Amino acid sequence: MKMKLMLPVIALLLAAFFATSQETYKEVKPVADKLTFTGKSFYPVKQFPHSFKGKKPKNVILMIGDGMGTAHVFAGITANGGHLFLDNFKHAGFSKTQSADKYITDSAAGGTALSTGVRTYNGAIGVDVNQKPLKTILEDAEEKQLSTGLVSSSAITHATPASFIAHQGARGSYEAIAADFLLTDVDVFIGGGYKHFANRQDGQDLIRELKARGYAVLQDMNEIVKVNSGKLAGLTAPEHNDRVTKRGDMLPKATQTAINILKNNKKGFFLMVEGSMIDWGAHANDAQYTVEEMLDFDQTIGVALEFAARDRETLIIVTADHETGGLIDADGDFKTGGFTAKFSSTDHTAVMVPLFAYGPGAEHFGGIMNNTDIHQKIKQLLIK
Ligand code: MG
Ligand code: ZN
Repeated sequence: MKMKLMLPVIALLLAAFFATSQETYKEVKPVADKLTFTGKSFYPVKQFPHSFKGKKPKNVILMIGDGMGTAHVFAGITANGGHLFLDNFKHAGFSKTQSADKYITDSAAGGTALSTGVRTYNGAIGVDVNQKPLKTILEDAEEKQLSTGLVSSSAITHATPASFIAHQGARGSYEAIAADFLLTDVDVFIGGGYKHFANRQDGQDLIRELKARGYAVLQDMNEIVKVNSGKLAGLTAPEHNDRVTKRGDMLPKATQTAINILKNNKKGFFLMVEGSMIDWGAHANDAQYTVEEMLDFDQTIGVALEFAARDRETLIIVTADHETGGLIDADGDFKTGGFTAKFSSTDHTAVMVPLFAYGPGAEHFGGIMNNTDIHQKIKQLLIK
């Protein structure tokens, strides 16, 4: 009798299983030539000392690999012959990324959780579920007279960096987000998004306003890298920068420039750096794109480590806002750096993302944390 009852149940479960897997298959259109990363030359990975001054950092550099799951990190490790700058991080754990209203977050809610310590709805930029503005860690740092900066390989008005400086109900309100930059005292920001400041629907010329407030407004990376004091608005593309094969070493150079400016403040600084396009490569189910962006982000982490190891008062946190692509490391070769991916999604997934910490206070980051805990710990260490 039991068997008779179970059979239809099993049949139903099987039908449900095949129905969902069929749907999943439909969503993803893997293109064979996009699933492999062909390695070129490896970059050398330096080992940095772990000798820090004191228990609390003077400076914090928060580095967000958009969409960077553990599979993306390991793809990078494979592609660089077995090592990344991330090897230097002795404190590691996981971050749970769920937003207030969804099991799977977007970059706006994910960024806002990291910037404010509050879970909000997908699409929200620095506001809570009732669209009430939330104070960001960047604003806290400014209030404490620390210097502040934002660096991104996408537009600086895009969800991740915007979450640290703007307060808008919708992530697509780029011009309103750009205007919010003027409501802060941010010392340096480098990324794309020039048109959201210059060619606006409301006719406002935010470039002129930035200049009136003492910002050097520059669009050329060759000029940007020369700035080492004062205020800098580096707007390196009308909208988003190109992918790394075309934009080159913009992200590591922009990060170095931001550090050069921010380190002048004896009280300390807060800097957020985003490797935006790990996410975009994974959305496109493109292994070459994903891994190239992962390696660019890791080399940017190398720039931050180089400073932090000498400074000894800087805490570096590396994490992601969410995973993208449901990436599977299907095959690889440490000798050649060759890597083959499978993707199980063209969107974000719910899985925990890696969390790494280096510097004074790094021991507070580890185990399984909520994304909002990362904010709380940074705040305790840098602000309180
Ligand atoms: Mg982003
Ligand atoms: Zn995404």
